Amino acid sequence: MTQNTRPILPGAAIGVLGSGQLGRMFALAARRCGYRVHTYSPDSDTPTGQVSDVEIVGDYDDLDAVRAFARDVSAVTFEFENVPAPTANACMEIVPVHPDGHVLHIAQNRLREKQFLARAGIAHAPFRPIATLDQLHDALGALGCPAVLKTAGFGYDGKGQVTIDTPDAALAAWAALGQAECVLEAFVPFRCEVSLVAARGADGAFVHYGLIENAHAHHILDTSVCPARVTPALEAEAERMARAILEEMNVVGVLCVEFFVTRDGRLLVNELAPRPHNSGHLTMNAHAVSQFEQQLRAVCGLPLGSTDRLVPAAAMCNLLGDLWEAGTPDWPRAFALPNVAVHLYGKEDARPGRKMGHLTATAPTPEAAEMLARQARAALHSQS
Ligand code: AMP
Repeated sequence: MTQNTRPILPGAAIGVLGSGQLGRMFALAARRCGYRVHTYSPDSDTPTGQVSDVEIVGDYDDLDAVRAFARDVSAVTFEFENVPAPTANACMEIVPVHPDGHVLHIAQNRLREKQFLARAGIAHAPFRPIATLDQLHDALGALGCPAVLKTAGFGYDGKGQVTIDTPDAALAAWAALGQAECVLEAFVPFRCEVSLVAARGADGAFVHYGLIENAHAHHILDTSVCPARVTPALEAEAERMARAILEEMNVVGVLCVEFFVTRDGRLLVNELAPRPHNSGHLTMNAHAVSQFEQQLRAVCGLPLGSTDRLVPAAAMCNLLGDLWEAGTPDWPRAFALPNVAVHLYGKEDARPGRKMGHLTATAPTPEAAEMLARQARAALHSQS
């Protein structure tokens, strides 16, 4: 199904629910294109608010304030998928919301997401829904150990998940996740992890950035490299799967599909993120139109942009709060490196594990790009 509404033109105001770094980079792209940006979240002086025209501080549950926010903008998007459904619905009464509440509903719950994948015939790790300890024991019997227990709601960056190595660890895992509704997944001994950042326009147009190779540390994305070192056949299969997902969900916006590449070379979907994704940050420096501008174009009903890669290869390293443990990072050393771009999110409180910024390096090969990005990050540690 496609929509044929008139595009929202530069000069209009776009609303962002949420106020983190994804909203910040969206707002920067939108303002460069001549749009105004209003952000709504419970916090002030936020990464998004700092670069927006208007920063509204309010609870997501304050639906009158949410409606007032929506009345002042031409469309609403979001920068994290855990925006409560009633909040998105309150906006939808007033203006278009992209991606819509139906997409949010699926993507904000791992169980619904997996059931959607199963219904759509998209390959994913075997799973079982878990509501009781007995069900967990049965599921461990069916899927075997190791297996990964994940809370169905509100999980990201490895939060709300525990690996169960032996059946007698079930009780502790169940308790650790607060006996919440969960999904048990078979452990996938993957060769590597890859993601495909894709966008779908209001007219049904589909574009993607090619596979990006991802490495995680402590369940948090650490490094992304493009192009991924995979076969053209695997790349084509990822495109087919992503296109099917975006079409089936009728997404208007950006959606990232995270995959495991199994040891025997198959793709299994791990997770869907219905918004720009950390692994796609390198598109800001490496591609003709970034994932954030793509989100803007989709939300505004404009033609999607080119996803051509302008450099042979690029790599991104996240900068977590841990980097600040020994004091302020040595920024001039990173700025001194040619072909390295420094991105910081304007967060003051550098807590361990908190995403504070990232570095992107461009180079003739993926290996050289990854080495340069890592070298730039290592240089930040060495204060003189
Ligand atoms: P998630 O929050 O589900 O994206 O998980 C974060 C990371 O944990 C993934 O990127 C993987 O590195 C790892 N992980 C999650 N689920 C599994 C699984 N079923 N098998 C193996 N590793 C997993």
